Amino acid sequence: MASPVTLRVFRWRAGEAEGLAEYRVAVAADTTVLDALVEIQRAQDPTLAFRYACRVGMCGSCAVVVNGRERWACRTRLASLGPGPVSVRPLYHFPLLRDLVVDMTPFAAKLRSVDAALVPREEAEPYARVSGLSHERREIDQAIECIGCGMCVSACTMVGHNERFPGPAALNRVLTLELDHRDAGRAARWRVLLGDDALARCHGQGNCTEVCPMGLSPADSIRRLRRLALSRLLGLSG
Ligand code: SF4
Repeated sequence: MASPVTLRVFRWRAGEAEGLAEYRVAVAADTTVLDALVEIQRAQDPTLAFRYACRVGMCGSCAVVVNGRERWACRTRLASLGPGPVSVRPLYHFPLLRDLVVDMTPFAAKLRSVDAALVPREEAEPYARVSGLSHERREIDQAIECIGCGMCVSACTMVGHNERFPGPAALNRVLTLELDHRDAGRAARWRVLLGDDALARCHGQGNCTEVCPMGLSPADSIRRLRRLALSRLLGLSG
């Protein structure tokens, strides 16, 4: 049976003061935060802006902060949040476009800042395959599942403190490249990783890992990169 829940939703548009708008939505046991936002937009306030695409927990585009924690709206059931009003606000550490919609440009910029794209070795085959059963692939199995939702970046206090810090998602991606024999971009990447604003900055609290909806551990990826850095500095690897 549907019962009403109060949602306090962050509202802001250019030229206006930010604030929280309160809505009452009738919810059933399986109503998600995204369902409630869609219902608000359809029945109460068509000006409410939020982002979503797949609706089934695959794309990560509905990432928001619900009751103080980063979550995907489409997979968060209101009933799981306990009694009381539910707060919904946009991700932290991204420029706000409107209401719950943020500009994801810094996410891509952070990937670029650590050259987080494969640089193919000259001698590599055009379609070099890495077997799913190989040790090399199993080493990065978890880390390659990143969907680029930005929740870890929002949860990372170091990203908020130092805008040059690449953040958990970019460093997680770098680990996958470091362990990929097809990649030839290590030298340039390590110059950044060993600088003042990258690996040395992570405080290891693991907020990123706590909120990752895919169950990845960017904190572990960073720890593994640090071990690789040590081997490199000791001359134990190239
Ligand atoms: S590592 Fe997890 S939380 Fe971070 S962007 Fe990827 S999927 Fe999202």
